[in-house]
Amino acid sequence: MQKVQTGCEVYSEKLSGGIPGNIGLVLVPNVVWGTLSSSSHYCQLGYHKLAIGADSGGNGVAGSMMLKLAILFIIVGFVAKLNCDPARYDGYKLLRVHTRHRRDLEAVKRIHDAADERLDFWREPRSVHGDVDIMVSAEHQDYLSDLLQDGGLEAKTIIEDIQEAFEEQSAINTEEEKEFFGSYQNLSQINEWMFTLGADYPDIVTVYEIATSYEGRPIHCLKVSDPYQAAESTKPAIFIMGGIHSREWLSPATVMFITNELVENYGIDSEIKELLEGLDWYIVPVFNVDGYVFSWEKYRFWRKTRSEYDHNRCKGADPNRNWDFEWGVSGVSDMSCDDTYAGPFAFSETEVRQIADYLTDLNARQPINGFIDFHAYSQLWMTPYGYDTVLPDNYQEQYNLAKDATDALRKVNGTDYTVGNIADVIYKASGNSVDWARGKLRVPYTYAVELPDKGRYGFLMPPRYIIPTGEETMEAIRVIGQGVMAYKGSASKLDAGLPTA
Ligand SMILES: [Zn+2]
Repeated sequence: MQKVQTGCEVYSEKLSGGIPGNIGLVLVPNVVWGTLSSSSHYCQLGYHKLAIGADSGGNGVAGSMMLKLAILFIIVGFVAKLNCDPARYDGYKLLRVHTRHRRDLEAVKRIHDAADERLDFWREPRSVHGDVDIMVSAEHQDYLSDLLQDGGLEAKTIIEDIQEAFEEQSAINTEEEKEFFGSYQNLSQINEWMFTLGADYPDIVTVYEIATSYEGRPIHCLKVSDPYQAAESTKPAIFIMGGIHSREWLSPATVMFITNELVENYGIDSEIKELLEGLDWYIVPVFNVDGYVFSWEKYRFWRKTRSEYDHNRCKGADPNRNWDFEWGVSGVSDMSCDDTYAGPFAFSETEVRQIADYLTDLNARQPINGFIDFHAYSQLWMTPYGYDTVLPDNYQEQYNLAKDATDALRKVNGTDYTVGNIADVIYKASGNSVDWARGKLRVPYTYAVELPDKGRYGFLMPPRYIIPTGEETMEAIRVIGQGVMAYKGSASKLDAGLPTA
């Protein structure tokens, strides 16, 4: 069986013996168009047999053959056209349910579990007194209303028109938006930016491929450091990553902004000079490159990787539930179509595995004392652990540094962050990057950050927020950098990451 991939999310499979004139059977995806969610458009392509005819050996009349070929190309062409265009979101809304008590939480969980792919949960139901954000198409609004009513739940509309908000996010109209940080950048623009930065500042920036994605794309890392280091640096390192969840576009944008600040101000700002002298900065702006490209080109709200497994109905796994520390323990799904699908086993996702291997090797050469994983949205500055409510033994120090960082951040634009451990602040979520960094690598300062906003725009933050978010986050990074530099616990680091209970 030959599998033909058209470059879009279209697969036509030929059962062909290679005999001239044998068209064989053509299996065309049975596209359930009009359904919703990251899983549905592109993963749920059941194969539908279209009997073009198993022409055995070219005995048929030539005219009949031509007709079959023509039908084949029309069908394949039609399906390709259907799937190649990026999805539109006309009539889609974002609704919010606030869970007032446990009964609300249970009710909204039932909706989540029953909805299948008809609803896209931007924020999943996890805790009492939490906000659950649900995107729904025009077609399924009545369906959702009925479910909400049955559950005694109230919802308010947060985004009236998703398509309009999406266009606002993607638009480049003003002079300001034409600037690099005035708009969001796709993967090739980001890669180009990294190489340009490396070429412009060869003394302090090195760009290299840290891993290769499932679909074969390079994942790039920037090393930023002062130029006077020995070839084999042994000074402490800090690792910053963005874009592990591909729909969270503000994350790569902010990580790039921070990188730019560190690089461009090295020669001007004595504090930044100190940060580069004291630490080697390893920065990956886009971790989940396949998902990011998919989010740009096909389905804006794609979160996971793009891996495929036999017997899985949907593509991808949640790369932030896939790390090999207490994997699969809590806050994960074993359903491949769910956004929190942990993968078939720990480190099943090649991006996660390779970067974890890289960091393990790096940590053996120079201690990684800081680790920050940027997400969006909710305004949270979180510490481990996520798999359970246990706390690392230096929780208080981590908490204090995060408090100082978010205090500095608030002074810029008044943006408020909540600080605390993942399991308490949002919900239990095992197999995440910072649990692994803390629990396995024993990095003393590890943070998962949910950038702005609190849900007014959610994933669709307009580009005018990139610079203000970058500026305020940079103030927090200065504080974190100083805290990490001041860390003198290399001897006790071996114990630092172990849970206390
Ligand atoms: Zn995320």
